[in-house]
Amino acid sequence: MNFPIQKTEAEWQALLQAKGAEPGALQVTRHAATERPFTGKYNQQWTDGSYHCICCGATLFSAHTKFDAGCGWPSFSQALPGAITEVMDHSLGRVRVETVCSQCGAHLGHVFEDGPAPTGLRYCMNSAALDFTSSQP
Ligand SMILES: [Zn+2]
Repeated sequence: MNFPIQKTEAEWQALLQAKGAEPGALQVTRHAATERPFTGKYNQQWTDGSYHCICCGATLFSAHTKFDAGCGWPSFSQALPGAITEVMDHSLGRVRVETVCSQCGAHLGHVFEDGPAPTGLRYCMNSAALDFTSSQP
């Protein structure tokens, strides 16, 4: 798949380091790793604001759509229109829907159809793939 923003592995690594991203951010976003549950810095964050792609800064979610799914990863019921591209994932012997950033292709997590109304969706994200901006002064 071709995404508008293309960088080499070394360039992403340098960019993530410069941003002060979590140590696992490169493995998560560029190699589809999954952080351990209940370890991410945004799992229990409920401040008003917006969540961005740690790699390219694209806005992905509003904090208004974040909910506690109890699964140990930050979960959202809705993504911003066009922000996320869905990819079929056949790893681990089952079919899941992987979610990647539409701008740079960063792996973010998966989306499941067991979320709350009205969307019924649960975007199960890795904290390490996200960058939070508070809307409070
Ligand atoms: Zn991105």
